[in-house]
Amino acid sequence: MPMATKPDVQPDTQDSRRTSRAAIRDSIIRSAPKLHPVIKYPHPTLLKPGEPVTEFTPELAQFVDEMFDSMYAAEGIGLAAPQVDVSRQITVIDISYHERPEDKLVLINPVVIDRRGKQFEEEGCLSLPEIREKVHRDAWVKVRAQNIQGEFFEVEGTDLLARAMLHEIDHLHGILFIDRLSRLKRDLVLRRIRKMQRNGEW
Ligand SMILES: [Zn+2]
Repeated sequence: MPMATKPDVQPDTQDSRRTSRAAIRDSIIRSAPKLHPVIKYPHPTLLKPGEPVTEFTPELAQFVDEMFDSMYAAEGIGLAAPQVDVSRQITVIDISYHERPEDKLVLINPVVIDRRGKQFEEEGCLSLPEIREKVHRDAWVKVRAQNIQGEFFEVEGTDLLARAMLHEIDHLHGILFIDRLSRLKRDLVLRRIRKMQRNGEW
């Protein structure tokens, strides 16, 4: 329909338009992701256990959204709250990295309640950039956790999902994947990190 045939704009319509413009502006402000920078080893927050979450507030839900945004921005498939310097038992995982919305997983106060089998695959960590090593993990795990409403649920995972959950749950206890390497391998990695630190590359 041509513009000229549109009826005159009534005052209340103007108001509602103004309101909707304000709403759009507000929603843009709200939807602009707040990104939390990922801290690197050996930041002390990474090396201590996170506190359990006891209050399931809108602020928690907001923080979880920000963790997903921060994880995607850092190109990770998992992120634990201690990695953004928040010492809480919260982790987000998406092994499909945006591909499958149903893969988005939030684990609050997670506990591994069953485990089976073995796998030995390469891992990396946003807090240990450029370090990749093979780590021994369970091949299948069952995890009990709470969601952002505080409701308990169980989730099972094999292979990559099992690795991701175990890696992130370790973070909530101050454990990094390099702590699961042989002593020799771990020493080599730490030497490499110290060299990068000296060269200003860390
Ligand atoms: Zn990690």
